[in-house]
Amino acid sequence: MQYRNFPMVPRVVFGNGSFHQLGEILMPKRKNSDAPFIFFVDAVFEGQTLSQQIPLLFNDQIIFISSEEEPKTNQIDVLVKKIKDSYSELPSGIIGIGGGTLLDVAKAVAIMLTNEGSAEAYQGWDLVKKPAIYHVGIPTISGTGAEVSRTTVLMGPEKKLGINSDYTPFDQVVLDPNLTQGVPKDQWFYTGMDCYIHCIESLTGTYLNAFSQSYGEKALDLCKEVYLEDIKAEDSRDKLMMASWHGGMSIAYSQVGVAHAMSYGLSYVLGIKHGIGNCLVFQHLEEFYPEGVKLFKKMQEKHQITLPKGVCAHLSEEQFNSMLNVSFGLVPLWENALGKDWKTIMTRERLLALFKKI
Ligand code: NAD
Ligand code: ZN
Repeated sequence: MQYRNFPMVPRVVFGNGSFHQLGEILMPKRKNSDAPFIFFVDAVFEGQTLSQQIPLLFNDQIIFISSEEEPKTNQIDVLVKKIKDSYSELPSGIIGIGGGTLLDVAKAVAIMLTNEGSAEAYQGWDLVKKPAIYHVGIPTISGTGAEVSRTTVLMGPEKKLGINSDYTPFDQVVLDPNLTQGVPKDQWFYTGMDCYIHCIESLTGTYLNAFSQSYGEKALDLCKEVYLEDIKAEDSRDKLMMASWHGGMSIAYSQVGVAHAMSYGLSYVLGIKHGIGNCLVFQHLEEFYPEGVKLFKKMQEKHQITLPKGVCAHLSEEQFNSMLNVSFGLVPLWENALGKDWKTIMTRERLLALFKKI
């Protein structure tokens, strides 16, 4: 048996207001006054206090990025070129401030600044050849686990797939629960449910082991507290941030499952974002995750979240085919969810019928 040797985020600071330590954290990582820090910030913060509090020095730069759409390989290539054209040397580091979208942009750009060609060529497992430049992740919404994961999920011309590599994880993460204060309620639910679904898929999967279980159970307990109990808003923000972290740690050594495999297909064909996509799929997965779906519906009801209906009602055969292909391409997810014989369990007809329910 060859066990996998995973990298982890080597430094993390946690606490309300910890964002204000960013300047101090970055200072020793500054190579010289010509090598800037580039801050990728969710466009939702443009003109907001947060962007005014970013500790800029010398030729540092803020680049606002919309998270309306999930990151694309081509978008990463453009950003990398822009940075290379603007400066005489490589930046001192890349900082991503936002949700999973911005964290993934930051990770991908940090990798592509030192690796040749297009980001598209690195979608997959362990294709990255050279270490990324120093990169920092600062989540402003909790759930994806992107702050701790070994991947950066990108939409390419041919597939939606992560750059999974030992060089992907952040060198530093700043967990400041205060930053999540302005998140709209629906989005708080969708992204939080991403974490909840990570837990359910990890804990019920065939890849489960004590490492994953220990993190998954903790994350699941925290999700239950946040979404089913009436706790103080401040505690809820703290707990959801840690749930996201533990959920991410849980899948690091196991895998996600049916909901994620389907959600990737949905997102590839319809551009539906990860959090809501997972919810749209997960509500129909009672046969695979009976307990998990029951609790999901309870949480949904408690927070009065209505999901859109008829999302796949008018799709062409070609679109359904494409959805099935993207989804079936995620072999480790199916194998984790349904075991080695997953192909006999999840036939094309069965998966198609599930998509048609959405
Ligand atoms: P997101 O980054 O797409 O943001 C969702 C919405 O919340 C956006 O409208 C954004 O502007 C808003 N927002 C974020 N923080 C806010 C704040 N503090 N106040 C007000 N609005 C705020 O959402 P997400 O669900 O965190 O990320 C989804 C992305 O993460 C997808 O692209 C998905 O592929 C990726 N993902 C990556 C991993 C990984 O391990 N790398 C894991 C899961 C998901
Ligand atoms: Zn997810």
